[in-house]
Amino acid sequence: MSQKLNLSLPIPFIDLKSQQAQIRPQINEAFQGILDHGAYIMGPQIFDLEKKLSEFCGAKHTITCANGTDALALILMAKNVKPGDAVFVPSFTFAATAEVVAWMGATPVFIDVLKDTFNMDPLSLKQGIKHAKELGLNPTAIIPVDLFGAPADYDALETIAAENHLWVLADSAQSFGATYKNRSVGTFGLATSTSFFPAKPLGCYGDGGAIFTDNDDLAEILISLRVHGQGKDKYDNIHIGMNGRLDTLQAAVLLEKLKIFPNELIARQHAADFYTRALSSVATPPLLLPNTTSSWAQYTLRLNPETSREKLIQDLQALGIPTAIYYVKPLHQQKAYQHYPTALGHHLPNSEALAHEVLSLPMHGYLTEDVLQYITESLVHLLSRPPK
Ligand SMILES: *Cc1c(COP(=O)(O)O)cnc(C)c1O
Repeated sequence: MSQKLNLSLPIPFIDLKSQQAQIRPQINEAFQGILDHGAYIMGPQIFDLEKKLSEFCGAKHTITCANGTDALALILMAKNVKPGDAVFVPSFTFAATAEVVAWMGATPVFIDVLKDTFNMDPLSLKQGIKHAKELGLNPTAIIPVDLFGAPADYDALETIAAENHLWVLADSAQSFGATYKNRSVGTFGLATSTSFFPAKPLGCYGDGGAIFTDNDDLAEILISLRVHGQGKDKYDNIHIGMNGRLDTLQAAVLLEKLKIFPNELIARQHAADFYTRALSSVATPPLLLPNTTSSWAQYTLRLNPETSREKLIQDLQALGIPTAIYYVKPLHQQKAYQHYPTALGHHLPNSEALAHEVLSLPMHGYLTEDVLQYITESLVHLLSRPPK
């Protein structure tokens, strides 16, 4: 098949090279400018980027920072999350979501996800809040994750938050650029965190992150916390903070990437539509909530439980098609986190089942029709084999 289509194999899982080719001269020029002015820390590109990100997503304040993990942590620090507090996080996510809660000495309480959207299950959240109270913890905040780029069900989650006097921190590390009921990611809950890690939908050339909020008081504290809790004067510290700044060079990269980002989002949607059309008969495609768009950080299928995922991965690899498993193990079953409470007793059945069934396919803004056809035809062929 590959010879006929004249594809270059293996196919990249994420094609950052094709993307760079679009903007390389502009990035070179921006870097030259920074080498000339020398403001490597908090240079003018930082403030330009913050303004443009706010315009893009509609949040009143954008506070850039060093990475998506610090973005989460800075918000918990600003809200003074402390030992005894329970913070509700999905178990089927990247470790950073729960890690930052533990940093504060607070208790992450693991909540199950829905099998079709991969996002936090409102019913499990209710059970988790009740369980946390029974354990003598103080329910404080919810951190929904927009897994694989699709926004969580914020209407349902924010209603539960309001009923229980909790605040919401949206972990949108994977979903910048997505929308939910005509609102952009960056405008949900009290604050939103995102990541500009290179593999995220909007990535820089190193580590980077940002916080979005409409709350003026919170924004003021965050701006202080990211520079060691400084007050009006650099050496007058009014909070215990951290060194959590974004580099000027990374801001320059993001300013260029933001210009091509809308087109990349369209291309990602096109690729996702192609996958869903071609693969619905052999596996379960991801479900988006009505009136929702995804930034498609990942395109993740659920395989039938009787499919041998390991064999499929090997066969795809032999055809030059890379895949990935996000995530192999839910957090509540991992060594560092297994002693923390879960919503109900010990098991989170959907998170546990998904870990065995998911498979992520190549996803980026530069997938051609030929490549999409090759991937989907190969998958349909391999998944249509009678089981041995
Ligand atoms: C990537 C990611 C983070 C952390 O972002 P970094 O920039 O790598 O620190 C946090 N939460 C989720 C869900 C992520 O996918």
